[in-house]
Amino acid sequence: MAAGGHGSCPSGALRRLDFVSAVPVAVETLETYAVATAGCTRCRLSQGRTQGVFGGGNPHADLMFVGEAPGFHEDKQGIPFVGQAGKLLDKLLAGVGLWRDDVYIANVLKCRPPGNRDPQQDEIEACEPHLFRQIELIEPKMIATLGNFATKLLSGRPLGITRVHGQEQPLTIAGRSVLLYPLYHPAAALYTPAMLKVLEADFARIPELIGIRRQPVPAAHRPEAEPEPALAAPAEQLGLF
Ligand code: URA
Repeated sequence: MAAGGHGSCPSGALRRLDFVSAVPVAVETLETYAVATAGCTRCRLSQGRTQGVFGGGNPHADLMFVGEAPGFHEDKQGIPFVGQAGKLLDKLLAGVGLWRDDVYIANVLKCRPPGNRDPQQDEIEACEPHLFRQIELIEPKMIATLGNFATKLLSGRPLGITRVHGQEQPLTIAGRSVLLYPLYHPAAALYTPAMLKVLEADFARIPELIGIRRQPVPAAHRPEAEPEPALAAPAEQLGLF
């Protein structure tokens, strides 16, 4: 009998079904990829991490955000943007009627740099295959980059965020047509009210760019974001723009 044992095949002939059912095919999902990368040792940052911060949110999101790297709280909790910058990000999302579950949030680096220092070039190069694979698996229509590191990496250009924020660019990223939308990093806006205004104005265009219509979440229900005194350093010193 033919492999698969479905009965009445003419002698020597295999039905198509036999081929399909006999060979299990492993399909990589965002979840299986996250599990596979949890033990990544591609760069020195693996030595100091509590855990990698792969990303979080809706694995089928049309809109993906890419920040810089996990900080102290993200490293402890394994979730991106859970500190003060994350609270501001939640508030900005709510302002355009979106919640975390509507979007996917990742970072250029999956592991926390010591003392929250800037990512180094060799760390970015070691980690970028993870980000590009995430993009392939999520298939977002639009990627909003938060700050310089994500913007330079995904645009492939050296232009800083001060020059390009709020300017959408159709690009091919990870083999897909994507609208890249560079934004200031929320951590920069925490300390600079004028930058917060610009970030809010750039955020306000997201629904139009992604082609959705949402009611802003009523102010009373929005998350609050306040500067964290211990982190209150000028944004330029944080390398955020
Ligand atoms: N800043 C980032 O860029 N990413 C985080 O996850 C948190 C803060």
